[in-house]
Amino acid sequence: MTEAHREFEERSNAGTSLNFIEQIVEEDIAAGKNGGRVHTRFPPEPNGYLHIGHAKAICLSFGLADKYGGQTNLRFDDTNPVTEDTEYVDSIKNDVHWLGFDWENEFYASDYFDQLYQFAETLILKGLAYVDDSTAEEIAAQKGTPTEPGRANQYRDRSVDENLDLFRRMKAGEYPDGAKVLRAKVDMASPNMQLRDPIMYRIKHAHHHRTGDAWCIYPMYDFAHGQSDAIEHITHSLCTLEFEVHRPLYEWFIQKLDIFPSRQIEFSRLNLTYTVMSKRKLKQLVEEGHVTSWDDPRMPTIAGLRRRGYTPASLREFCDRIGIAKRDNLIDVGLLEFCIREELNKTTHRVMAVLTDGRPDGKPLKLVLTNYPEDKVEELNIENNPEEAEMTYRRVPFSRELYIERDDFMENPPKKFFRLFPGGMVRLKGAYIIKCDEVVKDDTGEITEIRCTYIPESRSGSDTSGINVKGTIHWVSVPHAVEAEVRLYDRLFSVENPAADEREFLELLNPNSLEVVRAFVEPALVEAARSGTQTNFQFMRKGYFILDSDSTPERPVFNRTVTLKDGWAKEQKKS
Ligand code: ATP
Ligand code: MG
Repeated sequence: MTEAHREFEERSNAGTSLNFIEQIVEEDIAAGKNGGRVHTRFPPEPNGYLHIGHAKAICLSFGLADKYGGQTNLRFDDTNPVTEDTEYVDSIKNDVHWLGFDWENEFYASDYFDQLYQFAETLILKGLAYVDDSTAEEIAAQKGTPTEPGRANQYRDRSVDENLDLFRRMKAGEYPDGAKVLRAKVDMASPNMQLRDPIMYRIKHAHHHRTGDAWCIYPMYDFAHGQSDAIEHITHSLCTLEFEVHRPLYEWFIQKLDIFPSRQIEFSRLNLTYTVMSKRKLKQLVEEGHVTSWDDPRMPTIAGLRRRGYTPASLREFCDRIGIAKRDNLIDVGLLEFCIREELNKTTHRVMAVLTDGRPDGKPLKLVLTNYPEDKVEELNIENNPEEAEMTYRRVPFSRELYIERDDFMENPPKKFFRLFPGGMVRLKGAYIIKCDEVVKDDTGEITEIRCTYIPESRSGSDTSGINVKGTIHWVSVPHAVEAEVRLYDRLFSVENPAADEREFLELLNPNSLEVVRAFVEPALVEAARSGTQTNFQFMRKGYFILDSDSTPERPVFNRTVTLKDGWAKEQKKS
């Protein structure tokens, strides 16, 4: 049993008791809070593509609302004009839908800019906000440290009128970037650094993807997020643990503004082994060409996982398995792979594909059945998936010349080699037992062909030969085979936790995260993939694969989703 499998078992045995967020929600419902209503939101910043960590947050917020008959808003937290883009907005909507969720409302924090501005003036009028002319460095220096209190500066005592005038002039564009900020007047001596007069607004003369040039001051996260929750009457606002220390501020704004009391609840961030989860780093990988795109199948993005062959159900299953915790943790990517393997094992057709080595002209091994008629073609019925409740079959052409994997033949085999060797016998999957009679080589000594005889009465399903063989190998018929490109993906990083490593994360990239090989596949599989009747496949003995969007009519491309077994764990133990 692998580590991932054990984790899986433990979690499935954990029972059906409520998690701590569900407990809070049920207490609120029981207490009649918000009339028993449950309304959550998912608040991505449109500054990159969603990753598997976001999938966890999505499953949680949408799942909670579903469970308690509530609703979920999709809210774009677009308060930072310089990093945001509509390309990201579109990808986020697409990914949430693909995961299987639908939102009640699509909102944008930028739609609340007027309202937020009014809230800010309200706080100024109450003497709870002030304009500060200090530089960013000065503000940081005055902020103190966790063990030393911060220091108030001379701007803190500005009059309400002066603050109102200056804030209006900030909005009118009278000052350059960085000249002034608006701060909440909370407590410079608070043990919680977040409460030491946090910045509410900064000046930024920048074009916003939705509001254009209407604004040159933009609210900070802390002054946009909670207020947006309140405006939308969100009952339970779920966010990751790093916001726990922001909660007192979240509540301070709500209380001082006397607005809808949304409740913030924090849960642990998902971190996954052998990858990074920060959008900034993922963006760097794309922009510097370390991967081909945001949806490169090696990326932990939802788009990348989709292209890799992951299904929405497998990602939801994974999010369910990892559960939620109040402590950040690092989850073994093996668990994610376990979830997709489990599903694909049940759903995919077992098909035959012969892979070659990494060279562009990599050649499979040709096998000639000398006693099989030259122009004969049989259409063999081969079962699609032994896991199916009701067995289905497909037709696979069989002829005198076949391709097999080079690995499935050895001229001088070691003991217990149950595949093909001179004088040895194997079964060709779904077809006949064959015997290897002769090896043909070219001038350089490379094997170009092996010549075999087949046993006519050994046909699978009607075998009367009485011969028992230990090995079964897969094959494709040479005249019917379709040439394909196969992309074998592996972990993007070669260390378990790149984020915790002292070295620059780019130095930790796995140089062998992609191997491209030439392959020959059954014709039916290409047809099925192109028509969309089957998108994921098991290439027998090789792993699970999916047709890639880079395919051309001449040359299909397949991505390896995952190997059949967790080979990586074994490798790691050896080294
Ligand atoms: P990053 O630091 O990668 O940019 P972020 O937290 O800034 O991520 P947002 O777009 O602000 O990204 O996140 C939207 C929601 O998804 C937030 O509620 C956030 O807490 C949650 N989220 C982001 N990353 C993770 C993660 N790794 N695990 C669980 N939830 C996450
Ligand atoms: Mg963020």
